[in-house]
Amino acid sequence: NGIIIFDNSFAKNIDDQQMLEQDLRYALKNDPQQIVLYFQPKVDPTNDKIIGAEALVRWHHPKKGVLSPAHFIELAESTGLILPLGEIVLRKSMEQVKRWEGTVFENLILAVNLSGRQFQDKNLEPLLRSLVDEYKIDPGKIELEITELTSMTMVHHTINVLHRIRSIGYKIAIDDFGTGYSSLAYLRDFPISTIKIDRSFIMNIEEEQKSITIVKLIIGMSRTLEFTVVAEGVETIRQKELLKSYGVDLIQGYFYNKPLPLKEFEEYVLKTN
Ligand code: C2E
Ligand code: CA
Ligand code: CA
Ligand code: CA
Repeated sequence: NGIIIFDNSFAKNIDDQQMLEQDLRYALKNDPQQIVLYFQPKVDPTNDKIIGAEALVRWHHPKKGVLSPAHFIELAESTGLILPLGEIVLRKSMEQVKRWEGTVFENLILAVNLSGRQFQDKNLEPLLRSLVDEYKIDPGKIELEITELTSMTMVHHTINVLHRIRSIGYKIAIDDFGTGYSSLAYLRDFPISTIKIDRSFIMNIEEEQKSITIVKLIIGMSRTLEFTVVAEGVETIRQKELLKSYGVDLIQGYFYNKPLPLKEFEEYVLKTN
């Protein structure tokens, strides 16, 4: 009844978020070097060879140090900054693929995350087209990982955009597969090349029969439909061995390695392949 309790920590939190937003805006506009890609290997479990990597963004904040996406992706999405951030991530990824040309790394496939918000952007397809011309790379070396597929009303639009992106030559992966509601319709209607089984299923395959059944089913289905199937979040040798026995194509997770800065990633590839 008329009493307002001023919660200091809440106010401070808003301040923090606003400062972080300003800092991000500044970085994207004036100092894109603060945005750095880390690389997590994707490995063929039958021979332990690295066939590619997922690019995962980090923000080298001048005061706060290295920030993981949990600290700023939501903020970027709610403020629209995900568009310039996403473009920087794409450019850095292409630059990397370009630099790897003619080296021992040239066959690596680089996966890049795209947020749902980027998909709603009319400029995405033209951007992806012009980047191929600008960097003169084979778009087949880039795999775009897409997660939440926006709202149901967007499905038609998304399918059209995906077809056009696919026709440029990019590969397309469905990320966090199994957590959405119409996953099977995606498989039928979306021109995808790869399925990534969500970590929440992988986590439980050592003890839980339902997860085992689901994972086996996804792998079997992917093979029949001729998609590449990747297990994410693999942490133990037992998980790796199980997934290998089910016929998974690729494994990603702390069992092999965490996301690494470029130099460490390259050293790891040299040592491993
Ligand atoms: P994601 O696409 O599902 O990426 C996998 C996340 O799981 C990464 O976290 C990775 O470091 C972590 N991970 C990998 N292996 C393991 C494991 O064995 N165990 C566990 N517990 N975790 C593992 P990260 O790098 O913090 O990224 C979090 C999320 O942020 C990503 O989830 C992705 O949705 C988003 N993200 C990252 N980079 C980008 C980007 O460039 N653009 C956009 N739009 N989103 C990004
Ligand atoms: Ca991903
Ligand atoms: Ca995931
Ligand atoms: Ca994800």
